[in-house]
Amino acid sequence: MLDSRTKIFGIIGDPVVHSLSPVMQNYFMKMFKINGVYCAFRIHSNDLETCLKGAPIMGFVGLNVTLPHKYAAAQTATFSSPEVRLLQVANTLQFKQDGIHAFTTDHYGFIASVGEHRARFSGAQVLMFGAGGSARSVAFALSQLGISALTIANRNESKAVELARFCQQNLAMTNVAAISINHPNLSHFIDQATILINTTSLGMYPIINEAPVALFTSIGKKHFVYDLIYNPLMTRFMYEAEKRGATVKNGLDMLIYQGLASLNIWSYEDFRLDINSFNELKSLLYRELK
Ligand code: NAP
Repeated sequence: MLDSRTKIFGIIGDPVVHSLSPVMQNYFMKMFKINGVYCAFRIHSNDLETCLKGAPIMGFVGLNVTLPHKYAAAQTATFSSPEVRLLQVANTLQFKQDGIHAFTTDHYGFIASVGEHRARFSGAQVLMFGAGGSARSVAFALSQLGISALTIANRNESKAVELARFCQQNLAMTNVAAISINHPNLSHFIDQATILINTTSLGMYPIINEAPVALFTSIGKKHFVYDLIYNPLMTRFMYEAEKRGATVKNGLDMLIYQGLASLNIWSYEDFRLDINSFNELKSLLYRELK
């Protein structure tokens, strides 16, 4: 029951109406017996500063931050975690007496979600599509998973070059290359890699017939294809890859792990989901996506 002691949490973004975070975080509240409520707030960029000033006054404990505010939130915070200082993006804000504390949990979510496939990453050559905010977090995760080489393919090639430079200078990754997502010999790069990761929004609802590659023929059994998208659960990229024998994974587990990490920051706990609860939550989220 909500009462005057109920702790308030939320997610801010624009748009935010399709976010699964309210269903997921309110499931956590119930599961971990927290007297809290989590809502979604559509905040225009012009109102971000006012929102972040007002939230602690209103008694908010914490907020998740999604597009387009991840960068601005990191800049606005009073204190930033080492990861936020490194990546310059924040997805979790905590309101404390001394100011706003910023964290990022996407890289952790990616690593935790890899689970049983972790061994595939050690020494692997990875081809990552996209060079936006999530690509930066995934690159950080990849640097911790011990891959041997990373190629970043992006529509705006200069952003791929910039991210490659970031990986070399800040993540101590030595073998990093940048190419256009429309590279005439993309098949060669696919063939060289054993892990393909989509961090672009290509294939995301509602334009579900898109994919980061046009030709799927060079994808095969040796590939592990990870699509950060979770709506739809089976993207065209995953579907075409699986048809050719690849092992595929969507972004739903990553979403759950990054969300749980945010809750653990706000509550100073180490909450974990057992396999039954994890699957129950996934079914709940599947239903939301339908
Ligand atoms: P972002 O910072 O806006 O980056 C978007 C990326 O997609 C850029 O690389 C952009 O390329 C590319 N892109 C967009 N439209 C394109 C098009 N028509 N053709 C080619 N490339 C295109 O967004 P983000 O935060 O990285 O999020 C990207 C995706 O990851 C979204 O689908 C999001 O839902 C998903 N995501 C999932 C999780 C999870 O927990 N599973 C977490 C974060 C994000 P340019 O640079 O050329 O514009």
